[in-house]
Amino acid sequence: MARTVIAGDFGGTNLRAALVADSGEVLARREVPTPAAGTAEEALASVDALLADVRAGAAAAPVAACIAAAGLIDAERGLVLVSPNVPSFRNLPLGAALAGRTGLPAAIENDASAAALGEHRFGAARGARHVLHATLGTGIGGGIVIDGRLHRGAAGLAGEIGHIVIDAAGPVCACGSRGCLEALAGGVAFARRARRLLETGAAPVLAALCAGREPAAADLARAAARGETAALAEIRNGGHLLGVGLASLVNVLNPDVVTLSGGLLGMGEPLLESLREAMAASAYGPASATPVRVSELGEDAGLLGAAAVALALAEG
Ligand SMILES: [Zn+2]
Repeated sequence: MARTVIAGDFGGTNLRAALVADSGEVLARREVPTPAAGTAEEALASVDALLADVRAGAAAAPVAACIAAAGLIDAERGLVLVSPNVPSFRNLPLGAALAGRTGLPAAIENDASAAALGEHRFGAARGARHVLHATLGTGIGGGIVIDGRLHRGAAGLAGEIGHIVIDAAGPVCACGSRGCLEALAGGVAFARRARRLLETGAAPVLAALCAGREPAAADLARAAARGETAALAEIRNGGHLLGVGLASLVNVLNPDVVTLSGGLLGMGEPLLESLREAMAASAYGPASATPVRVSELGEDAGLLGAAAVALALAEG
């Protein structure tokens, strides 16, 4: 019988949990709306119900559990320091809570780090030793796998690739620094590009699409798909900056493969093409040939990332 683990993914919309086999097959899944308000106790009660439901479907006892969550996670001590999706989880020992409630070896992990291990075990980086994974969404995150193991760093902050500085005189970032990759080419930055483009009056298709409302990153892609060259140029410009940032990381880490996930990939081939071109042009020597692959895990990337962390825990 396949070994199974309990995997949790705390997203912005739903808390999801699943029973996952070591093959990556999702055997059972449940979800509840993310408790964005209320106390930590109430949120934990939702987690309890989820876990009990998922566990009830297990044919044999799972071997470990892991919850992946956005935010600042101290994986070593099992602490959620800051959670943007569940604000009541602040300095919360979720790892101990998970172990206590399941009676299993349990871990919590930053979702982007978990995603890196998920790609390594189940996805686009199968068979690689060293992986750099980038999550390209409203914010930009990442995870690093070295020799098949997650690299967490001294305080669990390794992989915060959105905050490498690309332009020291650039726009202020959410982290307080200036010109971070996220501030220049994250989802919020693309929305800002779209807003500026509207102000120039040079993007009639975009203007018609937004019709008086605030533009979002996805509007640029829609306008570009309808032939608006100014919108296309903004997408390519952002993709270029992402590629430049990834090239710096590739020069430091020399991964076998770079994997990508996240909503910005919805901008399609123009973004990917400019990202790949810029990375190849900026990376040093043979590192310029580092392959860049899109995640194969789709909507289950978060759950499978958590499952990969739980399996690694069970395997020691
Ligand atoms: Zn930053």
